[in-house]
Amino acid sequence: MVNTPVFRGSTILSNSLGEWESRKLPGNPYASYGRFGTPTTRALETALAELEGGHRSIVFPSGLAACTHSLMALLKPGDHVLLTDSVYGPTRDFALSVLTRFGIEVEFFDPLAGSEIRHQIRRNTRVVFVESPGSATFEVQDIPAIAREAHKVDAFVVMDNTWASPLFFKPFEHGVDISIQAATKYIVGHSDALLGAATANERAWSLLQRTAHDFGQTAGPDDLYLALRGLRSLSVRLHRHWENGVLLAESLARHPMVAQVLHPALPGDPGHALWRRDFKGASGLFAIALKPVSRDALAVFFDSLELFGIGLSWGGYESLVLPMLEAPARAVRPWKLEGPMVRVHAGLESCNDLMLDMQSALDRMQRHA
Ligand SMILES: *Cc1c(COP(=O)(O)O)cnc(C)c1O
Repeated sequence: MVNTPVFRGSTILSNSLGEWESRKLPGNPYASYGRFGTPTTRALETALAELEGGHRSIVFPSGLAACTHSLMALLKPGDHVLLTDSVYGPTRDFALSVLTRFGIEVEFFDPLAGSEIRHQIRRNTRVVFVESPGSATFEVQDIPAIAREAHKVDAFVVMDNTWASPLFFKPFEHGVDISIQAATKYIVGHSDALLGAATANERAWSLLQRTAHDFGQTAGPDDLYLALRGLRSLSVRLHRHWENGVLLAESLARHPMVAQVLHPALPGDPGHALWRRDFKGASGLFAIALKPVSRDALAVFFDSLELFGIGLSWGGYESLVLPMLEAPARAVRPWKLEGPMVRVHAGLESCNDLMLDMQSALDRMQRHA
């Protein structure tokens, strides 16, 4: 077979006592039961570790599970964790509700801090959690500078690398210790499965693997297969998402109803220089801030779109918009929201069609306003 097939199973039989014992030997410690993985699991984990440039990968049933278990793997009561203020909302909620319950001190840092993060790093800082560009607001972080400061106190740098995928940001070349993918997004790529993965360097690997197994984490073989299948076309799809996203963002920037476009691949974006320095490409996800409009006018915009579905998640072949009507949660510096924001995912459709659809929906909103 060209592709590793779907292996379904919990029990793995041994033909003899000797074979059973050999399954338990070091180097083959997790080949005794389906929860520890099957050839389908290994095929995906091996490919992801290689793409990310890390030591080894482990899969989780969702991207959020990969984030939360990576944190649990490294932290203990009394530790201090720093998270970017622009972190994915559910990761933020997990830190505030669960980590604090276990006596871990949670603090946020300015996504633009760079090496200035040193003022917030303490002797007991154990993890610095980065996500670049940030969820919903797309600030690009100086990961190498942050990692240099974190490593001075032996803290681990954990990165949510979902936006760029393993193709467009190479986390281990920039000082990251654990890199997370919400494989639900570009890796699966077709909006038909939920999956996560965490890839670690040698320093973090045993902690990560041990904790994931202790928590009983596993992922279903059909979803793993869909992720393996998605990987085959990841590069081709991403280049198209990148191109469509930039062209769409540029055309939106020219519309009178658009106050701001948040897309680090656009030359005027505040994160553009760092993006050019550290990234190899851009995904199709960005946001726009609209001029202040009434809810009725905003409804005209959303309801007029024909090619963009309204929905959560992204990374599939289809274009999406997500209304962001409230300012994103911030601890360090409040996010100023003048008009509503819209998160846009540029899919794989004809870019001309996407631009025309957006343009006409914005025109209608403008006429209504
Ligand atoms: C979607 C997303 C996640 C969570 O992935 P799920 O598979 O939906 O749990 C985590 N981080 C980022 C940046 C995401 O966009």
